[in-house]
Amino acid sequence: MTRLIDGKSIAATIKQRVADEVAQLKKRGRAPCLAAVMIGDDPAAASYARSQARHAEAVGIEHRLIELPARTSPEQAAARMDELAANPAVSGIMLHLPVPGPLDAFALQQRIPAHKDVEGVSPANLGLLALGREALAPCTAAAAMECLRAVTPDLTGRNAVVVGRSAIVGKPLAMLLLAANATVTQCHTRTRNLADHTRAAEMLLVAAGAAGLIGAEHVVPGTVVIDVGTHRVTVIDANGLEVTRTVGDVRFDEVAPLAAAITPVPGGVGPVTVAMLLQNTIRAAARQK
Ligand code: NAP
Repeated sequence: MTRLIDGKSIAATIKQRVADEVAQLKKRGRAPCLAAVMIGDDPAAASYARSQARHAEAVGIEHRLIELPARTSPEQAAARMDELAANPAVSGIMLHLPVPGPLDAFALQQRIPAHKDVEGVSPANLGLLALGREALAPCTAAAAMECLRAVTPDLTGRNAVVVGRSAIVGKPLAMLLLAANATVTQCHTRTRNLADHTRAAEMLLVAAGAAGLIGAEHVVPGTVVIDVGTHRVTVIDANGLEVTRTVGDVRFDEVAPLAAAITPVPGGVGPVTVAMLLQNTIRAAARQK
């Protein structure tokens, strides 16, 4: 029987733990505050920002949304990031993507001090992760690990295959798997015979950003499958009507019957990612002097 990895329930457990810790932090005078910077008016970023604010407030974390106009200059944006970095009342900072054309997201993220980098995107945090040191790990990679550990608590010596090598998901995910003593293979667009690798996986973690890339031909029975991909696609439903659906990088209907356990999309890694952001925020608040 395939086990469905329920991201909503994993996220609820993490959020409860976070809420308890927020209460403790407040008693010690360290109320956590997450500052989210949004530049311009990207509708997806705005919708994510609103949902993030609701999640933060539900666990007692103060959420400050700093909205800057699309015409903000690189100097003005940098100055706002620096103000937040220096503000002792702010425990965590994140930058909503995308940022408008002339601005450089990487340059702005680099201004976030490692101890306030709750998305784990700064070179300092990624470096600490690579060194096997304590770091604020990138939320999506950490969420994929939480989903995996929900069904495979001990990863020691297991064969893990990661599809994707982006700096923000695939690479840190491989580093987290290594830190958990898994044996890791990392695949990307130049990998030859992808299925040869994915079929050798005991645990297959897919962060390719390619809707439906992984099908039955890529998976052997008994694999644990974690699908990080999220895509809005238009499909024709049973009544011949055009509908919009959220799908992953994995063809769920084909792969689920083979898998020992699998994350659905939506309802898998996504909700856990938000919970990891909240968890990183309280870790940041607890560490700040
Ligand atoms: P990305 O920057 O586009 O990176 C995709 C990676 O997958 C690249 O390393 C690419 O290889 C590799 N890849 C693409 N097509 C491939 C193929 N056909 N075969 C093998 N490898 C392939 O994407 P990302 O930012 O890492 O995000 C990955 C997915 O996760 C996206 O669908 C994104 O929407 C989703 N996501 C979900 C969450 C969440 O909370 N659930 C959060 C963030 C992202 P190359 O390096 O060779 O180009």
